Amino acid sequence: MPSAATLLSDYFGFDAFRPGQEEVVEAVANGQNTLAIMPTGGGKSLCFQLPALMRDGVTVVISPLIALMRDQVRGLREAGIEAGALTSGNTQEETDQVWQALEEERLKLLYIAPERLSAGSALGMLRRINVNLIAVDEAHCVSQWGHDFRPDYLRIGELRRTLGVPLAAFTATADAETQAEIVNRLFDGEQPATFLRGFDRPNIHLAFAAKNNPRTQILNFAAARKGQSGIVYCGTRSKTEKLAAALRENGHAAAHYHGGMEAEDRRITEARFQKEDGLIVVATVAFGMGVDKPDIRWVAHADLPKSIEAYYQEIGRAGRDGGPAETLTLFGPDDIRLRRNQIDEGLAPPERRMADHARLNALLGLAEALECRRNNLLGYFGETEVTCGKCDLCDTPPELFDGTQPVRMALSAILRTEEWYGSGHLIEILLGNTNDRIRARGHDDLPTFGVGKAYTRPQWQAIFRQMMGHDLIRPDPERHGALRMTDTALPILRDQEKITLRKDSITSAKRRPAVKA
Ligand code: ADP
Ligand code: ZN
Repeated sequence: MPSAATLLSDYFGFDAFRPGQEEVVEAVANGQNTLAIMPTGGGKSLCFQLPALMRDGVTVVISPLIALMRDQVRGLREAGIEAGALTSGNTQEETDQVWQALEEERLKLLYIAPERLSAGSALGMLRRINVNLIAVDEAHCVSQWGHDFRPDYLRIGELRRTLGVPLAAFTATADAETQAEIVNRLFDGEQPATFLRGFDRPNIHLAFAAKNNPRTQILNFAAARKGQSGIVYCGTRSKTEKLAAALRENGHAAAHYHGGMEAEDRRITEARFQKEDGLIVVATVAFGMGVDKPDIRWVAHADLPKSIEAYYQEIGRAGRDGGPAETLTLFGPDDIRLRRNQIDEGLAPPERRMADHARLNALLGLAEALECRRNNLLGYFGETEVTCGKCDLCDTPPELFDGTQPVRMALSAILRTEEWYGSGHLIEILLGNTNDRIRARGHDDLPTFGVGKAYTRPQWQAIFRQMMGHDLIRPDPERHGALRMTDTALPILRDQEKITLRKDSITSAKRRPAVKA
């Protein structure tokens, strides 16, 4: 049986679990009765869809929303998973097909509207087939005091007793009374394995920095934490080896780790990390799955992670003991280009690529955030705001400025050169510098030529990076990474919207501390 993580990526194309998902999947797949309280949008569906794939037989999903059920069935089928729904909206033909698929034991997931449970035939049928799990979505509908009460939900407890299979209940409603009612009515008062975990990891300090000299930046970060266990994540295997060597030259205990190493060497490094104090492992994302070290004091990203989920999972390896932990994530235009290319050049269908871009945008939004990173991150996962005080932006609120004018200048330079150039060339145009290429293309005659002299080159670099972070412009892999405007930028170009940018990252390129590199 493939692991949950493998199924997650093979069937759903996701690179990491969202907070809380993995623990719930494990409990449900192990056949435990489970109650999971997760915020809306937190990814509850996967918590029963993955176990459904991991167990023999069919998982019965009870959900009050017909449209949502149909959506999920469609999504599952597109992912190559056999699923069907029995709802009042079905045609007779659809219903017949579902029954037949059930008889032939082809279905992995059967969605049922709660009112179907009252119809005797459905119960009889469910008794005849090999049901492995009952999953109840929107489980708070069983609560008579809540405003979503569904009388048919009261039959679910009986169904569970009749079938004698485990039940997993999901809801976003966290109050104690509703929980108690769910336990009483769905589980006959026997407390199931219950998951209610805030996503916040308040002991982890969050920080991002513009990547200007990654080697030096990482060496500085490690130097300030000498003797502490840490992980540095890199985008490529060769980088892990070089950076580990640089750390050793600077007096750290450091080892590299990546998927291209012999299994035996990987095991040795894992074991060393586990028992040695103060070892730094410089690794690709291959490192981490099996790592269960409570006192990892820091995690740094030398390259931007793949998605906001991957980011959360990777920094989440720090400070499992609850002690203070620090993180630093470096990002620059090359990272953005690389990640966009990976998505565009992948074989995923268009909708999934769009979703992948959206998840990357969320991470870039976090990187370019103007206010508290923790609340930005929690907001993405559907959690409510907290008092943070433990991120770089709370430590030193960035200086902001109205970036509308320079952004419009940059957009104009992009459009007047017909979206065929990268930021290097565009910045020279904005600065009014001539070179052979600019003269040869006649770009010194453009109205945009030299309009951006009020800003320095590093400042322009930061503006372009923030524009990419806000998805105003995107590198086009079919034009060797030339920058093209996105629709998001239109209101700014037309002067209908303003954009606020950060000043701090504009100057950070100049503040380059000296270190032996
Ligand atoms: P809920 O039922 O908790 O409101 P869903 O199960 O509908 O949330 O999931 C919300 C969205 O999050 C969906 O678009 C889903 O594809 C996406 N999602 C769920 N898990 C992950 C993950 N591990 N990585 C990326 N996206 C995910
Ligand atoms: Zn903060």
